[in-house]
Amino acid sequence: MGKKMKNSGFATRAIHAGQDFDPTTGAVIPPIYQSSTFVQTHVGGLRNGYEYGRGGNPTRDGLETQLAALEGGSHGLSFASGLAAEDALLRGILKPGDHVVIGNDAYGGTYRLINKIFGAWGVTHSVVDMSNLRSVQSAITPETRVLWVETPSNPLMKITDIAELAEVGHSAGLIVVVDNTFASPALQQPLSLGADVVVHSTTKYLGGHSDVIGGALVLNDDEIHDKVRFMQFAAGAVSAPMDAFLTSRGVKTLDVRMQRHSENAQAIAEYFAEHAGVDTVYYPGLESHPGHALAATQMSRFGGMLSLAFTGGERVARRFAESTRVFQLAESLGGIESLVNYPAEMTHASVAGTELAVPANVIRLSVGLESIDDLLADVDRAIGSAVKKR
Ligand SMILES: *Cc1c(COP(=O)(O)O)cnc(C)c1O
Repeated sequence: MGKKMKNSGFATRAIHAGQDFDPTTGAVIPPIYQSSTFVQTHVGGLRNGYEYGRGGNPTRDGLETQLAALEGGSHGLSFASGLAAEDALLRGILKPGDHVVIGNDAYGGTYRLINKIFGAWGVTHSVVDMSNLRSVQSAITPETRVLWVETPSNPLMKITDIAELAEVGHSAGLIVVVDNTFASPALQQPLSLGADVVVHSTTKYLGGHSDVIGGALVLNDDEIHDKVRFMQFAAGAVSAPMDAFLTSRGVKTLDVRMQRHSENAQAIAEYFAEHAGVDTVYYPGLESHPGHALAATQMSRFGGMLSLAFTGGERVARRFAESTRVFQLAESLGGIESLVNYPAEMTHASVAGTELAVPANVIRLSVGLESIDDLLADVDRAIGSAVKKR
C-alpha cells in the first residue's frame, strides 16, 4: 500500500493511508510509539528523522498522512485540540496589524481566540454573514489576510458556497480557511473546491467516539506549511501518541459512520418538520432549508447535526433539552452517541451578548448511531412533555 494512496477510494484511504502494518512484527495495526525521544546512531545520527517527540512521532505522523489523504491535501498537521490547530495556523500566517474576516456564526471558541488572543496581539477582525458574498467583499480591507468560514455553520447550519468564497478571497490575495468539522471529509472536501486550508476539531467526527480531544490542519501550500509546521514544533501544541492513535482508529470507520449519522439526522429532521411545536428545523437535508440546493452540490450527504427553534420559546427549548433520555445533555458533537445541547448557555455561552449570540429558543442535536426507532421515540416523548409542562 502506498503511503498516500492518492488514487484509492475514500474508505480505502481512511483505513490504509499512513497506517501501514509494522514491518518488524507484522502487526496489522501500527504500534503506538509511546516514546518521548529516539536513540541516535551517532551524534546527530537520526533514524528515519526521529529525534524528540515534540518534533516528530511515528504515531502522529501516521495520523497526519491519513488526514492529508482524506482531505486530498499534501500536508497534514495534528494538534492537541482544534483550537491549538487554529492558534498555530493563525500565528503562522498573521502578523500584528493584519485583519481577519470571520462568519457571524463561527464556533464560539474560534471567535474568542481571534477576538481576545489575536486582538490583544494587534490583529483586527470583522464579523459577517459568510453566506452573503456581498457582505464578505465589503468587509475586505487592504489589511485583510484571511477569510474564515464554517459550512455547515454552528448551530444554525448555514451553507456557504466554498468555491465562490475561494474566488472572492483569491482575487483579493487572501488565504481562505474552511473549518470542516461539521461535515468531515467524508461529506465535503474544501481543498478540492478551492480552499487553502482545512481546519478540524478531530475531537468531533474524525475521532468519532467522544474519547479524545484533538485538532488538525490540511493544506497544499508549501510555504504556509513550513510556517505552521514551525509553529507546531516551536510552540509545541502537538497531539500525544495515544490521542493520535485513538483518532487514527476513529478515522478508519468515518465513512460508514457519516452515512448512518446522516440517515438518522434526516429522519429526525423530517419528524420535527411536521411538528407544530417546532418553528424552524435547521438541517440542510430538508428541501425547505435555504442552503439545501447548494449543500447538495458541495456535500455528498447532509451530516449528523441539526438545530431546532421551538414555537414555545426558551421555556420549551430548555425543557426539551432536559427531557430526552437517549440524547444526553452535553456539549460537543460528532460521537457515536446522541447529544442535545442548549447553545445559548452551553456551547455558545462565551458569545452571549455578541453578534454571534444564539437565540434562546434554539437547541442543537448531534444525532448519533443508535437505532433510529429509539431516537425518534426519545424526541417524541421529550417534545410531548416539554410542550405540555407549564
Ligand atoms: C469543537 C470545535 C472547535 C474547537 O475544537 P476543540 O477540539 O474543542 O479545541 C472548532 N471548530 C468547530 C466547528 C468545533 O465544533
